[in-house]
Amino acid sequence: MARIELNGLGHRYPGSEQYALQPQTMVWEDGGAYALLGPSGCGKTTLLNIISGLLTPSEGSVLFDGRDVTQLPPEKRNIAQVFQFPVIYDTMTVFDNLAFPLRNRKLPEPEVRSRVQEIAEILDLSGELRRRASGLSAEEKQIISLGRGLVRKDVAAVLFDEPLTVIDPHVKWLLRRQLKRIHQQLKLSLIYVTHDQIEALTFANQVVVMYEGEVVQMGTPQALFEEPAHTFVGHFIGSPGMNLLPCELNGESIRLGEQSMPLAPALAVRLAQVGKPLMLGIRPEFIRLASSGSAALDADVVRLEDLGTSKILTVTLAGKPIRIRLPEQQTVEGTRVRLDFQPERTMFYADGHRIA
Ligand code: ATP
Repeated sequence: MARIELNGLGHRYPGSEQYALQPQTMVWEDGGAYALLGPSGCGKTTLLNIISGLLTPSEGSVLFDGRDVTQLPPEKRNIAQVFQFPVIYDTMTVFDNLAFPLRNRKLPEPEVRSRVQEIAEILDLSGELRRRASGLSAEEKQIISLGRGLVRKDVAAVLFDEPLTVIDPHVKWLLRRQLKRIHQQLKLSLIYVTHDQIEALTFANQVVVMYEGEVVQMGTPQALFEEPAHTFVGHFIGSPGMNLLPCELNGESIRLGEQSMPLAPALAVRLAQVGKPLMLGIRPEFIRLASSGSAALDADVVRLEDLGTSKILTVTLAGKPIRIRLPEQQTVEGTRVRLDFQPERTMFYADGHRIA
């Protein structure tokens, strides 16, 4: 396993003025389970291919345990990769497919056998080991591809590029959990590319969110939820996403349309230094209905949806729609409500980035 460092790493494809990956510096800890999450075109595959060595970056360097591997091809980086579609040998048995990466590295046969059996057990393939791969479905083949990616103990990292695309939704759910267990049991460093937030949040202990070629936040699922570092994270993670409202600083309070909300003095001082248009962000889960109180804001009710386990109330405030998650038993009377924003969960952003 390796600690992976990206130093000023950026990439522009030849002939393009724009960065597919904006120059950035970060560390991926040894033994971590990382999900690289973001919408199509945000640069996930570019970053993964630079880490694997399929692509040489136009700027910066990649270090594995302090060793500069930037110019090394994939086969010299000691990594395993699992792609969107199965890469297995149809003429071989399931056992031989799983054993291939180990035999290729001349591991003694008893070790090959025990490791293949360990992986087969985890992936529920123990009964299939003698079958020829040609008779398997695309889904079964992809599970074997996962096994091939996980079978070596000595890899610097295992890289997955949307590996569950061909898998049926129910099996997908089981596999996500298995991958998490595998990570806990085998302590491999895993990097998993996906555009599916549920996949990322169930699998990873650190989620790396990308937006327009930039890593906008690396954090635990809880940190992404409670303290989004970028408006994109606020909007992309969670359903419904974070409410985002243009606002203005007015002395020691914040103005939302015609209404004001007091701020902690230190926060007001910090916001006064920004000198850019401000955006207030608050998740639907952190707004309460208030009966009174000086901090409460008036809003007009638009609709109330019952989701069975909670309710989503939509209101307008300063001309903008706001969503509030209410407990299932809560009722809403009348056409106007008063809102209470939890101060410690109310974030401020400028140019998309959170003002710390
Ligand atoms: P997807 O989920 O659709 O695969 P992604 O997040 O993996 O998207 P990338 O494939 O890394 O995104 O693409 C990032 C940007 O780089 C996009 O604007 C894309 O058009 C551009 N790009 C990707 N590959 C090339 C290439 N070979 N030449 C030129 N531009 C490219």
